[in-house]
Amino acid sequence: MNLKKILWPETCPFCGKVCADGICGECRKRVDSLQIKEPTCMKCGKPVSASEQEYCHDCAHTHYYYEKGMAMWLHKEPVSTSVYQFKYHNQRFYGKLYAAEIAAEKGAQILRWRPEIIIPVPLHSKRKRKRGYNQAEILSCELGKILEIPVCRKLVKRIRYTEPQKKLGNRMRKRNLEKAFAVTHSMEGVKSVLVVDDIYTTGSTIDAVAKELRKAGVSKVYFLTISIGQGY
Ligand SMILES: [Zn+2]
Ligand SMILES: [Zn+2]
Repeated sequence: MNLKKILWPETCPFCGKVCADGICGECRKRVDSLQIKEPTCMKCGKPVSASEQEYCHDCAHTHYYYEKGMAMWLHKEPVSTSVYQFKYHNQRFYGKLYAAEIAAEKGAQILRWRPEIIIPVPLHSKRKRKRGYNQAEILSCELGKILEIPVCRKLVKRIRYTEPQKKLGNRMRKRNLEKAFAVTHSMEGVKSVLVVDDIYTTGSTIDAVAKELRKAGVSKVYFLTISIGQGY
């Protein structure tokens, strides 16, 4: 065992216990039960109650700029705490473990969408400086490595400093994101891109990015997130 491993042992991203293989046995069972299974909403990928139901309640009543998307897990314990640690408490290496899980389960589906590039949902530069990293970027880079899809971190910029979405209701979430993002280059001729973020709640953040990408010329915008909430 090398010194680095003794000083910084690998821990399970879901319970924080030392575990050389990544996810520990107990958490493996718990997170496997949170994996999103069919039937799911054809738009956002949330689980729906019956297989004949095509869209969840939100998607049946909303217009989205994105094409469709999916998440790996439901946003419940222990996934929710793990994602929180990844996002706010510097547990950057969780990104690698999430990406491996996502590639194994969802990789084939992602490749069927034929994304030419992966685009992480950007943070405003001020927020990124404060936090030191963008969790969506970390996940994108790890996923891009496994699936061999290039990652463009600078294509979409967050040009307006906004309130954290979690404090707001659905309508305010949308308003909060108006003119929040900008695409820096023309994307004419790009057929498909994959937008990556940590959590899908109402979809307003991902859709605000999708709207700008569509305006810039992208034909289809897909998304992938670590977890998805049921309602908010
Ligand atoms: Zn664990
Ligand atoms: Zn839906």
